[in-house]
Amino acid sequence: MTAGVTVITHPLVQHKLTLMRKVETSAAEFRALLREISMLLAYEVTRDLPLTSVPIHTPLASMLAPQLEGKKTVVVSILRAGEGILSGMLELMPSARVGHIGLYRDPQTLVVVEYYFKVPEDIAEREALVVDPMLATGNSAVAALHRLKGMGAKSLKFVCLLAAPEGLRHVQEEHPDVPIYTAAIDERLNEHGYIIPGLGDAGDRLFGTK
Ligand code: URA
Repeated sequence: MTAGVTVITHPLVQHKLTLMRKVETSAAEFRALLREISMLLAYEVTRDLPLTSVPIHTPLASMLAPQLEGKKTVVVSILRAGEGILSGMLELMPSARVGHIGLYRDPQTLVVVEYYFKVPEDIAEREALVVDPMLATGNSAVAALHRLKGMGAKSLKFVCLLAAPEGLRHVQEEHPDVPIYTAAIDERLNEHGYIIPGLGDAGDRLFGTK
């Protein structure tokens, strides 16, 4: 069975995404918007976390109150642009653990090469939210998900800001069990692998490197 693609259409998400797309938005504004939008994405992505009831006392009465069952979460950031989503997610889930995967595409062979990998040892028992703002060709997402499954991760979700139809197809073909969350699905990729209309290079815009 193929897990679904959820497009988060909340007006605040869509408004902030429009601001992020604009060429005149500064790196500082872009960073703040990505942090804010990521908190809203986290809200949607964690909607199905299991709850349990615990007895508590308010100042006036006792009650059974809902509390997270304690399913442990890890946010795995695909370097480097994943760092922008990670910071917003951690704001909402401060006790989540963090993993990092560094990948680049070899310019000669176009094969994805891993240069950094560090995730919690108990990843097999955690719900992993794999984050990268741009799902373009899907090569990095596919490689990251393979690597995490190889470490025993069983419960995975992929969270991005923008997706190209090509990238969505690629991830769904290779990882039909992984639900994908995005704020928008754009038209296409250009010949350089950038999403059109997109927002440019998310890493450069986040860190002001161009
Ligand atoms: N990565 C980016 O940062 N932007 C794109 O449009 C595609 C991949």
